[in-house]
Amino acid sequence: MSVGVVLFTRDLRLHDNPVLWHAVHSHERVVPVFVLDAAILSGGFNRPNRAAFLADCLRDLNASLRARGAGLIIRGGDVVAETAKLARRVRADAVHVAGDVSGYAQRREQRLTAELECELVVHEDALFAVPPGRIRPSGGAGHMSVFAAYYRRWRTEPRRDPLLAPRHIALPDAVARGRVPSARGICPGPVAPRLPQGGESAGRARLAAWLRTAARGYDEVHDDLAADATSRLSPYLHFGCLSPVEILARQCVTEGFARQVAWRDFHAQVLSARPDLTAVELRPRGDRWRHAPDEFAAWQQGRTGLPVVDAGMRQLAAEGWLHNRARLIVAHFLTKTLYLDWRLGAAHFADLLVDGDVANNTLNWQWVAGTGTDSRFNRTYNITGQARRYDPDGNYVRRHVPELRGIPGPAVHEPWRLPAEQRAALDYPEPIVDVAEGNARFLRARRKR
Ligand SMILES: Cc1cc2nc3c(=O)[nH]c(=O)nc-3n(C[C@H](O)[C@H](O)[C@H](O)COP(=O)(O)OP(=O)(O)OC[C@H]3O[C@@H](n4cnc5c(N)ncnc54)[C@H](O)[C@@H]3O)c2cc1C
Repeated sequence: MSVGVVLFTRDLRLHDNPVLWHAVHSHERVVPVFVLDAAILSGGFNRPNRAAFLADCLRDLNASLRARGAGLIIRGGDVVAETAKLARRVRADAVHVAGDVSGYAQRREQRLTAELECELVVHEDALFAVPPGRIRPSGGAGHMSVFAAYYRRWRTEPRRDPLLAPRHIALPDAVARGRVPSARGICPGPVAPRLPQGGESAGRARLAAWLRTAARGYDEVHDDLAADATSRLSPYLHFGCLSPVEILARQCVTEGFARQVAWRDFHAQVLSARPDLTAVELRPRGDRWRHAPDEFAAWQQGRTGLPVVDAGMRQLAAEGWLHNRARLIVAHFLTKTLYLDWRLGAAHFADLLVDGDVANNTLNWQWVAGTGTDSRFNRTYNITGQARRYDPDGNYVRRHVPELRGIPGPAVHEPWRLPAEQRAALDYPEPIVDVAEGNARFLRARRKR
């Protein structure tokens, strides 16, 4: 009797999961396992928001596997040692796992290859629409570093067909299941009050609702902060509750949306080739970042006196999620207007984001800071101009900054222009920086290098 182990990592779904599908079609018995990895749990990336989402994912996956005759086997400890022990115990012929890109995931795969007594089958096509390494620069080595060139090739790259969820999964006899952990068991601490629910079922429901209502209009409204009309699928993509291949196969997905998913693949292939970029700059500009703990704290708390920045930072605190345009604005404000190190911002985002993802977080921060793949690396924004363009009526700001709710229309973006008496009654700070001066300081610093 052939036995396969499916090591779930961040492919927490049954539909269109090549890891599970191939295991079920290659072995008579299959052992689906998730290891609460001690190295991840004790590291800096284990945070309450993602822990709560992960606990939902595991509960949902367990229920779906049980409905198909199996159930999720839970283990805790060293992921490689636990997997090897389980594989020995069930006399597995192979362990199946998704190919992944971070330095940690790459080391995990190397250790699995070295320490397993059976075959390791790595499915490179489980987490990305176009897996890293498929599109290479003309010389053949390394990674693509210009998004436009990558995207031209990404668009025409053949994609596999989505796979069905298995109907039945047969476990070998007498495998101890273990308990699905609670959120607090994974990481204690306060969770954002409006965190989305995790899991494949919630992800599929979100996808279906978005396809029905907003997907067709994505290209026109995705940058409108108040419309909130993007898919909000990022945490489901991060944890693999949804497959990008399956989403892109849906008919009403637009070109503009596909382009955003291509950014995800782009960053994955950069990190896969350069795992050190979580800390190291891709293109160092000789920055001597300022040291200003009070300004950084004001940014974190959404008390900078710049309404659109504060709205973004408060949305992040309340939801563990942030609109892409708001991410660009708050990250620009931190790295260019305040000229503080992007690593501080990336760490704060990683603390709170439910979709916090090593590749997308650090490489987007580097892009904004001009140390990454942006060819216009010294571009600066007028923050109020951005606010007026992407939140023309001021509704996004009023939604997230209650102190400013009484100010109608776009005037909410510039409370410093209100008469002094009205301003004094607001309980809202004066801007911590003059944006034009801050941007000019950044440009001066960059030109000196
Ligand atoms: C400073 C900064 C930090 C970021 N950190 C993360 C992060 O940790 N995790 C993360 O998933 N995204 C990150 N992003 C990218 C982007 O902001 C989010 O993916 C997006 O806002 C999620 O919302 P959505 O699902 O509604 O996106 P949609 O607009 O509906 O896009 C669909 C999908 O495309 C992908 N996508 C969209 N924009 C990007 C992008 N710029 N880079 C990579 N993938 C993208 C996401 O998977 C997203 O779910 C960051 C962007 C910036 C500027």
